[in-house]
Amino acid sequence: MSTIENLRLLALGAVWLLVLNPAVAGSQERYYSAADFGGVEKVDAHMHVYGRANLLVAEAIRDHFHFLTIDVDSPEHGPVSWQVNDSASLRRRYPGRVAFAGTFSAAGFTKPGWSGQAVHEIEQALARGAVGIKIWKNFGMVVRDSDGRYVMPDDPRLEPIYSVLQRQHVVLLGHLAEPLDCWLPYSKMTVKGDADYYRQHPQYYMYLHPQMPKHDEILAARDRMLAAHPQLRFDAVHLASLEWDVDRIAAFLDRFPEADVDMAARISHLEYQAETHPDKVRAFLIRYQDRILYGTDDEYGPSDNDPQAVAEVAADWRRDWRFLVTDDEMQSPDLDHTFRGMHLPRSVVDKIYRKNAVALFPRGWPGLR
Ligand SMILES: [Zn+2]
Repeated sequence: MSTIENLRLLALGAVWLLVLNPAVAGSQERYYSAADFGGVEKVDAHMHVYGRANLLVAEAIRDHFHFLTIDVDSPEHGPVSWQVNDSASLRRRYPGRVAFAGTFSAAGFTKPGWSGQAVHEIEQALARGAVGIKIWKNFGMVVRDSDGRYVMPDDPRLEPIYSVLQRQHVVLLGHLAEPLDCWLPYSKMTVKGDADYYRQHPQYYMYLHPQMPKHDEILAARDRMLAAHPQLRFDAVHLASLEWDVDRIAAFLDRFPEADVDMAARISHLEYQAETHPDKVRAFLIRYQDRILYGTDDEYGPSDNDPQAVAEVAADWRRDWRFLVTDDEMQSPDLDHTFRGMHLPRSVVDKIYRKNAVALFPRGWPGLR
């Protein structure tokens, strides 16, 4: 064998060593520790914050957190017009700390002129500083047509909304469908928090309503809509409702290059998979490090006299940091078994915790990079 061939084989061997052994590839990587939590600028890209929120923002400042509060067309959160006022005022009072996403109301969906009214609502939210617009799970699960059928996310009456957002390069945040657990009996659910939520919200527990749309039908409608709008920037919140399998999330991200995902309220599902396949979950987070946003889905307000709620948010922020940053052995009230933290490299943590959110919402937090 010639020297050149020998050299080529050696080089090939070195490449394979790096591919097969991430520890070697990562030997130059630097890592944060649990104690670095307070020293890194971070974004919680999925919160629902109402009222003056002075206590919460004080905690965010102490913890170097910035956040996106997301309006939602849910009866529990009050009228959309009230929410947009609240969010816009929070942003005005805490510029660079708080950004917001607006939404539109599904009320009167079957009446003529609904689309125009929704677009008007969206334009008003954008004029007041919204950096994105949310579509909620009521499309696919609650809103019905005049013939009684459920309205799917690819309904033509939603088309003017998608077109406006695509044309204006505004991010659409999509919470469509629910965790797969929602369609399973309690005994088959993977995460205890899901069981608690559906006990409290039986109207959204699809296992009890087999006549309603299936999980895959709703997501297929979402995906048809995305395929029809290839330039639409899409923030698929809650791990794109594919939380139970990182391979499914990966396939979604591969199929839709303009989509990102946030992990809000679904970190427990990553932890569940980390009980048995920690390397696989870690490899997913590293491979898609440019496409994943940190978020909690935590709520606060409208009362601003709630130190307990602030303490819960602060505890969630620290716990998630420990899971993503360290390799500590951890437990969760959601799960029966222990799991290890993901021990992500600093460069990956910076993207998931800040840079990806700043890239997706460049007007969100002026001054933050
Ligand atoms: Zn949410």
